[in-house]
Amino acid sequence: MLPTELHQAYVFDLDGTIYLGDHLLPGAARLIGELRRRGIPVRFLSNNPTKDPRQYVEKLARLGLPTDISDIANTVVTTTRWLQEHHPDATLFVVGEEPLKRALTEAGFRLSDDPERIDIVIASYDRTFDYSKLQIAFDAIWFHRRAILIQTNPDRFCPFPGGRGEPDCAAITAAIEACTGVKSVANLGKPSHIMLEEALQGLDVDPAACVMVGDRLHTDIQMALDTGMASCLVLTGETTPDDVAALDENHQPTYVLDRVDRLIPQRLWDELGWTETNWKDH
Ligand SMILES: [Mg+2]
Repeated sequence: MLPTELHQAYVFDLDGTIYLGDHLLPGAARLIGELRRRGIPVRFLSNNPTKDPRQYVEKLARLGLPTDISDIANTVVTTTRWLQEHHPDATLFVVGEEPLKRALTEAGFRLSDDPERIDIVIASYDRTFDYSKLQIAFDAIWFHRRAILIQTNPDRFCPFPGGRGEPDCAAITAAIEACTGVKSVANLGKPSHIMLEEALQGLDVDPAACVMVGDRLHTDIQMALDTGMASCLVLTGETTPDDVAALDENHQPTYVLDRVDRLIPQRLWDELGWTETNWKDH
């Protein structure tokens, strides 16, 4: 099904939906521009915890899509906010990268690599992961039996151009779960409703009148299904038409689009003079 009307607000995944690597995907800029011209709220959500919102602002501006920092949320933001709300005095061990550690430190949390002091082990997307970090997590959780395990996001890998990718947080979580026998007790990324609440914060809209747009079934689309939003799968990232065909009826996205600017209904394409090939002109 293709959209025939505009929604009240649009929540977009970034990687594989708005850009891939260092290029905006076809039609992304004119779509966002048109929604903003109409005064329709646009928010961006990423599960990737290796950047903070400031870095996303810089990246989007560099790619030609200037965006306010308040319109962007990722798992650095949701993890920090969740910990402030639920475990404000906890000592943390972060199996993650600098932007997440910096945000937690700035929020006043103590970070430690002493297993006897750690209350919460945070599994994240960590390209500096090694055996000594696994040992600290293991000791804090299994030997001292004091720490709980949470994860920033459930993604197995982060997609790259050309069909490549990088192991993501799920691999780190799995390593810690495998050796300790415990399960992560919280996920702060999509499909958690925590991400949606962060995205829609300050907007007076009913989630049912909004649409979540993304390239991944298990995160972007699942969050929309769980929260009653319309969902739009774009085929510019991870998911293939065969994956969609294999879904049962209850898991079908509302829309499946070959390009993100088809969120603008066809009659408006005609009014605006858009074609499939002139997306760079608008
Ligand atoms: Mg994506």
